[in-house]
Amino acid sequence: MSNIPFCNNCGSELQADQIDIANDTGHCLKCNTTTKLSSNFEILDESIQPLEKLTNPPTKSITLAKTGENSYEIRLSRSRSRASGIALLVFSAIWFSFLFFLGVFTDLELFFSLYMIPFWIVGTGLVMYGINLITEIQKIAINYDSITISKQRLIKPVNLSINFKDIISITIEISRSDSVDSNGGTSTSYHEFPTITYKNGRKTFFETAKLGEKHWVIGFLNSIYSNAKKLNKDIV
Ligand SMILES: [Zn+2]
Repeated sequence: MSNIPFCNNCGSELQADQIDIANDTGHCLKCNTTTKLSSNFEILDESIQPLEKLTNPPTKSITLAKTGENSYEIRLSRSRSRASGIALLVFSAIWFSFLFFLGVFTDLELFFSLYMIPFWIVGTGLVMYGINLITEIQKIAINYDSITISKQRLIKPVNLSINFKDIISITIEISRSDSVDSNGGTSTSYHEFPTITYKNGRKTFFETAKLGEKHWVIGFLNSIYSNAKKLNKDIV
């Protein structure tokens, strides 16, 4: 589990120069609020927390609704994925204009040549992925038997119901990606994805949420999952 401190107000990661360990404070530059660093650990606590402690999502971008006696729905605000989608569309616009000017300054035929096909495919993929993020709504429904991950979007919508019996773990998985920067050096970045690992595979969700939001949703799902296990021995 990650130990990157985060803002309790908006869920953003706090960088080293924003934290003051001696005074137990972190100052978020995005929303200009101060977080008590030790309060992060209440959300980060890996042990299962009682549900009463988790009924307030950390930010307004996550909403929790009780939909039945033992069922809840968690919704991630569209603003989270929309921001990533817009960033991708801007990037793909730069990508296409670069291809176009490359064509103009060398030989316009190049722009429409066979060699360009892979670049066209990459650019089109970026546009489609961007549009998908902009139109996406993600919801998680949980009751005492199953978790349903729903991603309403244009391309590859998801509606997956996972029975508690099949669940292996509900955790934050860290994935590493290496990229080449403009100086030719490589830089490594880490992404944290809420993930349910189950009998038939694994599924990530709330990928565009802020770190504090991801930790909260994982804590909430684990709390219900463990309550259900205590009540129903068949699940284990
Ligand atoms: Zn903040």
